[in-house]
Amino acid sequence: MKYISTRGGGTPQTFEQVLLTGLAPDGGLYVPTELPHFSVEEIASWKNLSYPELVLKIVSPFIGDEIPAEALRKIVIDSYAQFDHPDVAPLTKLADNDFMLELYHGPTLAFKDFALQVLGRLLDYVLQKNEQRVVILGATSGDTGSAALEGCRRSKQVDIFILHPHQRVSEVQRRQMTTVVGDNVFNLAVQGNFDDCQSIVKAAFADQSFLSDESQLVAVNSINWARIMMQIVYYFSAALKVGAPEQAVSFSVPTGNFGDIYAGFLAKRIGLPIKQLVVATNSNDILHRFINSNEYSTTGLNHTLSPSMDILVSSNFERYLFDLFDRDAEQLSEFMSKLGQESQQVSDEKWQQMRECFSSARVDDALTCETIAKVFAETGKLIDPHTAVGIRAARECNADSSIPMITLSTAHPAKFSDAITEAGLDTPELPPHLSDLFEKEEHYSVVPNELAAVTEFVKKHAHN
Ligand SMILES: *Cc1c(COP(=O)(O)O)cnc(C)c1O
Repeated sequence: MKYISTRGGGTPQTFEQVLLTGLAPDGGLYVPTELPHFSVEEIASWKNLSYPELVLKIVSPFIGDEIPAEALRKIVIDSYAQFDHPDVAPLTKLADNDFMLELYHGPTLAFKDFALQVLGRLLDYVLQKNEQRVVILGATSGDTGSAALEGCRRSKQVDIFILHPHQRVSEVQRRQMTTVVGDNVFNLAVQGNFDDCQSIVKAAFADQSFLSDESQLVAVNSINWARIMMQIVYYFSAALKVGAPEQAVSFSVPTGNFGDIYAGFLAKRIGLPIKQLVVATNSNDILHRFINSNEYSTTGLNHTLSPSMDILVSSNFERYLFDLFDRDAEQLSEFMSKLGQESQQVSDEKWQQMRECFSSARVDDALTCETIAKVFAETGKLIDPHTAVGIRAARECNADSSIPMITLSTAHPAKFSDAITEAGLDTPELPPHLSDLFEKEEHYSVVPNELAAVTEFVKKHAHN
């Protein structure tokens, strides 16, 4: 399988090349040149597979023969053995045709573990084979950081630097990152917001001259294709449990950078019968405004109770726009270049096409708390604020109650106890493997919101 940039530059790249980079050199994101397609019969034959077996069926065509089948199998089995539920991604029924997919049973309690456990091991495999060392640089609004550290810290081939917005992540999130020990692990608290962190990372990738010649940056954010690819699988896993492929299903996805829901869009493209995909946003609602009123424009950032979705611009949306524009890289580049300057529209035809695929809702903090309390009263289930945004949006957008609606539950409630307390409920307990989190020593450096401060830090601390 080969990959091309959404901005049309460069030559097609291999899976390994795409894995070991971030943005394409022209500033675009990598997407496969073509998608595999699975027939109804083939999907139906997967009903009794274990989670790792299902992973291998779905991701193998995207990797081709670049990673030997036996090596890939071992990587996948080891990755999902780190999850503390035998189902890996258990599905919980809330009411008739109303389900929640629990994606928080991995080591760091958010769905990011699904991709980053595998990404860390894939990187290690490839880097050892190539006898290569790299620098991982990533920005996090909270959950990516700990999942990336947990997935990559054992690798002897990497130094890993994670930027988080200083005092803008929850205490549990911060401690999950800053208590990871290792002489190749560095946490930087940037005096800015998440978009500032993301901009610094983007600029560092664009000019890597601060690194030694033998080194290069690798991205662990969802601009890295391998992350998206791994997330396609749980859409199939959940849908098969409620009767797909004979039965159509819908999904509601709490959305920030559009990585998770883009994986759902791909699941649909490669054969899963998905009826509705609900884009659930908090009050950072650029995508909701675009889907609802064909107006694509940035506003100020709101800090909400669902901080992992406090994002101005969703980087992976570019991958979807590339498809919407029939893979016209020139048209896409023009559209992207105007972002932040003026409000943009697409043609009526394209807008309708988008609305056939996606519905959307905006859920503010008050509704988020109301939903946490309501779901607890109705079912006894405690949900995190991101999941609450998803469930509320699912109920608002559901167009056909005869079709199972599955909300992705993206994090464990103990990660976001502020929202739980605000909803009037007792603070949930952390699972046993994290019970000593508040006793451990923290390690991080506060840096100014400047590119040079970050590149200097990396230069000083990277091992080559
Ligand atoms: C990252 C994250 C999201 C948003 O996912 P995107 O892929 O950025 O859209 C939602 N909820 C939680 C808990 C997250 O960690």
